[in-house]
Amino acid sequence: MRFDVITIFPKMLNGFFAEGILHQAQLTGKIEIHLHNLRDFTDDLHRTVDDRPYGGGPGMVMKVQPLFRAVKTINASLSGKRRTILLSSQGKLFRQADALRLATYDGLILLCGRYEGVDERVISFVDEEISIGDYVLTGGEIAAAVLIETVARLIPGVVGRFESVEGDSFYNKRHLGPPQYTRPRIFQGLAVPEVLLSGDHSRIETFREEQAWRKTAQQRPDILGIRGHNCAEKQN
Ligand code: SAM
Repeated sequence: MRFDVITIFPKMLNGFFAEGILHQAQLTGKIEIHLHNLRDFTDDLHRTVDDRPYGGGPGMVMKVQPLFRAVKTINASLSGKRRTILLSSQGKLFRQADALRLATYDGLILLCGRYEGVDERVISFVDEEISIGDYVLTGGEIAAAVLIETVARLIPGVVGRFESVEGDSFYNKRHLGPPQYTRPRIFQGLAVPEVLLSGDHSRIETFREEQAWRKTAQQRPDILGIRGHNCAEKQN
């Protein structure tokens, strides 16, 4: 699978993609990540990517033409089933189900906004707008990295054992993953649950399942459809 990221700060993401599982996945050819500098798609001497907003107001807005040119140029060099996505604080909330859906494409082109955001007409040539959460980042780069990492780990061969992906929270299920323990057996008086040391796989499976539901009910009652307390209420 191929990811093309359009950004004014390509160097910002270089380090992130040069480590760990995503780096390995590029070396083994499971994924390709191409970082494009938006300024390469401008046509003026100063390589301008932003301008003042019509109607006034603070800050700058990203111009539509460089983004259009970038998407058009990248698209022309690609084949296969692909999708163009604008990372946006105003987009639909990104969920695991979206990662599973997007992992079926051959390629994703990701547009990172900056400043006050992009000219609204960018929407006319993207397939969808995605937000990674109900908060505002300074730019779309971290959001693009979140999306790439989430989608890439669903591609067979990217994570060593696919069972670990299938066991993760949110993977085709309504509950979180079960709590995990490793050595030492006792840490500051806290012992690992005895059943996990029993070697009885059926009991371990049942225990994990129960714990997963319990943790979900405690931490995320919303995904079970239970009316829960919000974080602010919990702190009181
Ligand atoms: N003025 C915008 C608003 O009121 O929603 C915020 C723009 S934000 C400072 C600049 C850029 O950061 C956005 O264009 C988008 O690309 C990115 N961004 C900010 N928050 C995001 C989020 N939650 N998810 C995805 N991208 C985000």
